[in-house]
Amino acid sequence: MEHIVIIGNGISGVTAARHIRKLSDKKITIVSAESDHFFSRTALMYVYMGHMKFEHTKPYEDWFWKKNRIDLKKGFVKQIDSAAKTLHFKEGDTLNYDQLIIATGSKPNKFGWPGQDLKGVQGLYSKQDLENLEVYAPDNKICKHAVIVGGGLIGIELAEMFHSRHIPVTFLVRENSFWNGVLPEGESAMINREISRNGIDLKLSTNLKEIISDKNGKVKAVILEETGEEIPCDFVGLTAGVSPNINFIKDSEIETNRGVLVNRFLETNISSIYAIGDCAEQQEAIGNRRPIEAVWYTGRMMGEAVAQTICNNRTEYKPGHWFNSAKFFDIEYQTYGWVFAQPKENSIHFHWKHEDDTKCITIAFDKETHQFLGINTFGIRMRHDFFNRVLTENRPVEYVMEYLADANFDPEFYKLHEKAIINTFNKDNNTAIPLKKKSWKRIFQTS
Ligand SMILES: Cc1cc2nc3c(=O)[nH]c(=O)nc-3n(C[C@H](O)[C@H](O)[C@H](O)COP(=O)(O)OP(=O)(O)OC[C@H]3O[C@@H](n4cnc5c(N)ncnc54)[C@H](O)[C@@H]3O)c2cc1C
Repeated sequence: MEHIVIIGNGISGVTAARHIRKLSDKKITIVSAESDHFFSRTALMYVYMGHMKFEHTKPYEDWFWKKNRIDLKKGFVKQIDSAAKTLHFKEGDTLNYDQLIIATGSKPNKFGWPGQDLKGVQGLYSKQDLENLEVYAPDNKICKHAVIVGGGLIGIELAEMFHSRHIPVTFLVRENSFWNGVLPEGESAMINREISRNGIDLKLSTNLKEIISDKNGKVKAVILEETGEEIPCDFVGLTAGVSPNINFIKDSEIETNRGVLVNRFLETNISSIYAIGDCAEQQEAIGNRRPIEAVWYTGRMMGEAVAQTICNNRTEYKPGHWFNSAKFFDIEYQTYGWVFAQPKENSIHFHWKHEDDTKCITIAFDKETHQFLGINTFGIRMRHDFFNRVLTENRPVEYVMEYLADANFDPEFYKLHEKAIINTFNKDNNTAIPLKKKSWKRIFQTS
């Protein structure tokens, strides 16, 4: 029987395994060095914050794997011998495969800072990272002060986690405003204020120079690049982005760049070897998407596509319109389509912010045709199906504005702001969009 081996038991590898099982009787083995069973990485923060136990992050019961004849192997793959179709494990054993899926995810970036491997210095990625947080930062007695290096989505999660245990935090962000390589100026500035409102010492335009050790090899302070200031601390979180976790592949025959290079079918240069999820790099970018996307739902989609291909239905990976969501302390963020930090040459940004400084919207549209290109919302939850449709149908921004109330999860709440938003839009753009009268649902159903 054909043996499919998957390295990595994250969302990508597990989705591939589940779908191969649905479609075939092939022998399936999932390998992982991290955990016995699949868990939801995105929920790690809630375990530390006490909202759930680690056990609750497992989407499937432990009996699920045996029942579905998916073998689980704990071990770290140190080498892939593609000629012999054999995996070599750090533990000394080997495993043969007929087809191999590489789904090894990401690892936190480290930029060679002195002291980056000290005790109490780590990223937030793995189950082991969560366990080490409980050792080095269980409370504000053992960890009197934490420093976080790198202002992205994981950095702000870590800040919120420490905040929940009353551990004072200094947050070092290299840019002059939080995540402003991704967020437009008004949004980024609003999140700066939200971070500070939560008592976090946000230091913008600030780089880490080095991490200082105590006599036991544990962190005791950091030194800042710009000022030379020394900040005493008991924990340093390294959250300056992630990169594909593929060091063990570098001297194999498999072509890599930052990630494992794949075509649209997720095939590598070696037949019978595929790569999916955070570790895969598209040779040719798909639309405006980045060649490597470290997000949950794209890993799942790649797992589904590769399962089809392996089960003799060669299927292209087609992720559809970009969307994403996150939370910045109490402010929920959603994005659909493309809203870049700076409007591209042919596009315009419309920005509206509520006076309470926790809600705002940015809409990008084409200068000439007024085609809607994308939306960011903060503190206002929108419906995915609405934006998927307007993007697919290339609707103009005026249409989106008119039906924005229907696209909202909480129309009553939105109605409170609708007039202000439409009025601002009309004023900024010299348009005369009326307040919504019809329901987009009725329109879509009849069209
Ligand atoms: C704290 C945090 C919060 C996040 N929040 C969000 C969010 O809100 N929304 C969102 O879309 N995304 C979020 N992400 C990103 C998302 O979790 C990842 O995109 C996703 O988990 C990647 O899945 P994957 O299956 O590709 O890889 P992973 O989940 O990383 O799984 C890969 C597995 O392979 C194992 N492995 C690696 N190398 C080897 C080897 N040589 N031998 C054996 N095993 C190996 C790893 O240990 C790991 O268990 C978050 C990530 C983190 C860390």
